Amino acid sequence: MASQTVLVTGAAGFLGSHLCDALLAEGRSVIGVDNFSTGSQANIDHLTSESRFRFIEHDITKPFDAGKVDFIFNMASPASPVDYSRLGVETLMVGSAGTINTLDLARKYNAGHLHASTSECYGDPEVHPQVESYWGHVNPIGPRSVYDEAKRFSEAAVMAYHRYYGVNTHLVRIFNTYGPRLQPNDGRVISNFMIQALRGEPLTIYGDGSQTRSFCYVSDLIEGILRLSRSDEHLPVNLGNPNEWTIIECANEVKTVTGSRSEIRFMPLPQDDPTRRRPDISKAKALLKWEPKIVLRQGLEKSLDYFKASMVEV
Ligand code: NAD
Ligand code: UDP
Repeated sequence: MASQTVLVTGAAGFLGSHLCDALLAEGRSVIGVDNFSTGSQANIDHLTSESRFRFIEHDITKPFDAGKVDFIFNMASPASPVDYSRLGVETLMVGSAGTINTLDLARKYNAGHLHASTSECYGDPEVHPQVESYWGHVNPIGPRSVYDEAKRFSEAAVMAYHRYYGVNTHLVRIFNTYGPRLQPNDGRVISNFMIQALRGEPLTIYGDGSQTRSFCYVSDLIEGILRLSRSDEHLPVNLGNPNEWTIIECANEVKTVTGSRSEIRFMPLPQDDPTRRRPDISKAKALLKWEPKIVLRQGLEKSLDYFKASMVEV
């Protein structure tokens, strides 16, 4: 197991880079692939002297083959609403052609495959909290559709490669996750609030701030992903922190942790912004013996130094 070679797409991204660290710490050899569309070299700089890490700059929508691998983690895709709105067609492509390319590699090498799916598959959910059996409420032509439908296509592709070709696939539906290495300017709520609070600028709340999200700290999520990759489960599994926060509560938590006196500025709510989101993690608890340990206050404190350091670069 420890001598396994693992391929991680999206390795220079927020989650991908943390996953590479965790896999290397377990003794694996890791091949990271990324085209730097939303990730950064800085996220993997610390791995340049690591002999078990190899990096390939490549766009996974174009076929590639880095040699035999035992497992593939497919993390590549723009993930923040600001990024995927800017990179609409690229997002559709990475969630379709890109995912198929990774599945072809898994099939060729008889490798395991884990795909990073998302709570966005549930859209603006009518079922709360969201259970894996819920099919979702997604606008197929709205501004978020380039992301949501690409991810839903990916899920269908993953299930097809499992059903028709017997590939050992896994699907994780990730709920909002945060921590060090989030791009400070990617527009996600935690990055925006942390940078705004540290600068003493107003915290921008979209809509009236009553919409909810449930925030998971990155180390908790990575642990869940590793456990899922070793399981026999092929159907989707929710991973996230079930503690639900309104966006106003989240803003106040950021102000407390940063000691900021920033004001709140209300701004228009983007179209199709989900009104609520909270994972039902009963399946992950039972199947993986997993649940998050780090509450929002702690996770923000652990992220503080990173955002302070990255603030100067924004
Ligand atoms: P991120 O933007 O930091 O990382 C994504 C990485 O994928 C980037 O390094 C980017 O350059 C790379 N990438 C994009 N298109 C590519 C392509 N065509 N070829 C090669 N590399 C490409 O985002 P993240 O938060 O780390 O998200 C990682 C994965 O997890 C994504 O698939 C995302 O949809 C999923 N996810 C994340 C969250 C979250 O809260 N962070 C929630 C749900 C799902
Ligand atoms: N949001 C906000 N202010 C910001 C950024 C985001 O109020 O500066 C809101 C956004 O409208 C959404 C929630 O915070 O309701 C989470 O947004 P994010 O972009 O982090 O991810 P999403 O969960 O929408 O994919």
